[in-house]
Amino acid sequence: MRMKVALIPGDGIGPDIVAEAVKVMGAVGTKYGHKFDYSFYLAGGVAIDSVGMPLPESTLLGCQDSEAVLLGAVGGPKWDHLGGDQRPEKALLGLRSGLGLFCNLRPALLYEQLAEACPLKSELIAGGLDIMVVRELTGGIYFGERGRNDAGDSAYDTMAYATIEIDRIVRKAFDIASKRSKRLMSVDKANILETSRLWRSVVNTIAKEYPDVSVDHMYVDNAAMQLVRNPRQFDVIVTENMFGDILSDEASMITGSIGMLPSASLRSDDFGMYEPIHGSAPDIAGKDMANPIATILSVAMMLRHTFACEEEAAAIESAVGAVLDAGWRTGDIMSKGMRQIGTKEMGTLIAQKL
Ligand code: NAD
Repeated sequence: MRMKVALIPGDGIGPDIVAEAVKVMGAVGTKYGHKFDYSFYLAGGVAIDSVGMPLPESTLLGCQDSEAVLLGAVGGPKWDHLGGDQRPEKALLGLRSGLGLFCNLRPALLYEQLAEACPLKSELIAGGLDIMVVRELTGGIYFGERGRNDAGDSAYDTMAYATIEIDRIVRKAFDIASKRSKRLMSVDKANILETSRLWRSVVNTIAKEYPDVSVDHMYVDNAAMQLVRNPRQFDVIVTENMFGDILSDEASMITGSIGMLPSASLRSDDFGMYEPIHGSAPDIAGKDMANPIATILSVAMMLRHTFACEEEAAAIESAVGAVLDAGWRTGDIMSKGMRQIGTKEMGTLIAQKL
């Protein structure tokens, strides 16, 4: 199979970790007979430095012409003084909206080998933790009308959702739940918000098409509490943009391993943008210290969701598990008795395991 992939290394540790992901894709290609066609594009601070804007048109066009995008990270102190549309992070928003990516998948997976990094009591996570947060990405209060009155002492943001926007994200969540434990938790604030009442009714309507998936509803304030009280009650969570922003960060942080977690942003066809959840970590950029696993697991998500290569995706995930089992650790996940290695060696070991 030929796979056309746009690579956006970005800033800070972005180039370090994307290089290791490419190494692993090379190993997947060799093992399974696939050919990856790569194109490199600029976004973030490096794009500001070279062409004066965080998201050059050539990057957006190049991504639109690809089947999937793999992004490292953008931003850093060098560009912190810039305001508004000139900030490197604007590139992410531009890519999400320019590519029509309305569905954000954020797995929060606690590796047994790293259980001590979890800030929760061990009895709460016995047996592991594997939650998938499905977040609506292009609607709701982040995109609604906002403003201030003339005096500037009153402001408003508007949360609005159309049935069609809820329908497409909820269907994605049902599809994902039906391939996992067949349990879906829809999170809203239907006791207060009209958008949530519409959300809930759409979920209940679509539920009839998925009789094998059991659906529950939970208010967002309760969900925030339940995630730290009893996280194992959750499997797939679906929610609107702002609730998902907050809950996905909470869910991923209870795994304690920022360098381990991938993400995917999808639309209705197979196209997707894949990236680690962490930032550009300027403190360790170019020092062979970054953990490349989140980016390598983003490649696994790409193979699963864009290219329907489940076997290849699972092979990457088990190669990561095997390298951790053998005691290899980058500095961020290092613990007593383990063997510390750098970014490149971690990438090489995972590629070799494949
Ligand atoms: P960060 O995620 O970059 O770093 C937080 C801490 O985690 C740092 O100590 C860093 O060294 C460590 N860390 C992060 N990723 C790691 C990895 N793979 N391996 C080992 N250690 C890792 O968050 P920050 O410091 O708040 O932000 C730094 C820059 O990244 C800022 O400019 C911010 O705007 C940007 N940012 C970008 C994205 C993105 O591109 N998606 C996301 C978040 C932050």
